[in-house]
Amino acid sequence: MIKKLAIVGGTHGNEFTGIYLLKKWQATPELIERSSFSAETLFANPAAYQQNKRYVDNDLNRRFHRDELENPSLTSVEELLARQINHQLGPKGDARIDFIIDMHTTTSNMGPTLLLTAQGKFYNQLAAFVQMYMPEVVISCDEDHKTNDQQHFLSSIAAKSVMIEVGPVPQSVLRHDVFEQTERMASLILDFIELDNTDQLPELPQTIDAFRYIECISLPLDSEGQRTAMIHRDIQDQDFVAIEPGQPIFVTFAGEEICYQGASTVYGSFINEAAYYDNNIAMSLLEKVTLDCY
Ligand SMILES: [Zn+2]
Repeated sequence: MIKKLAIVGGTHGNEFTGIYLLKKWQATPELIERSSFSAETLFANPAAYQQNKRYVDNDLNRRFHRDELENPSLTSVEELLARQINHQLGPKGDARIDFIIDMHTTTSNMGPTLLLTAQGKFYNQLAAFVQMYMPEVVISCDEDHKTNDQQHFLSSIAAKSVMIEVGPVPQSVLRHDVFEQTERMASLILDFIELDNTDQLPELPQTIDAFRYIECISLPLDSEGQRTAMIHRDIQDQDFVAIEPGQPIFVTFAGEEICYQGASTVYGSFINEAAYYDNNIAMSLLEKVTLDCY
């Protein structure tokens, strides 16, 4: 039973959709109220927002490993913030909050995506429910084999959580369509929890299609760490579309194509994500999976 829920926005300071949705809900809290649980909101990284940046010192959404949370010698802006948020919503492992919805946006053409970071019937039913009302939502399982303790995401503070990821939208930009999709997905997640809490779930499909993260791949670099290629036009904006072995995925600045070397069909996500330029990540590779709802 989920009794206390938190909706988080602005974990990344330049993802404005979640930040402005929180403002809306703070003005009209009845939109996120349901009868069987309480809902609160958290604007996670206002300092980064004020600087119009993803983060001040380092990525807040990678700071929630239990080891890091318990290490007082870590004192970057986000390391301190992570401990403060863990105190407020957690502590991780024995959290005051039962469920976290963390709202993100991406510059990649992923559409509305629901990221599941754990496995099980609850999550599969949640995903099926959201998809029933929003068929355009893509379900992506992101390192869902890891326990909460092994996860480094903010949402891993709570025993249960999901992340919403909607794009494409540039950093520090608000788009009406992305705002609406995020709001609708969050609202459906709240509806699902209400119905699950009160044992009133409708009949759901037996199975749903989803994607599961395999690995991320980096852009080709020279010996000095300088990028030698960019994302190939054929896969630009083609998130969740099949990439076949031998298909061009990068092109060098001289025009030479670099092809996918894997042995089987994969699917890309976060293709050419602007936030990953600092560590040269080109995209995530996923496989197609089927999730059982019963
Ligand atoms: Zn984000």
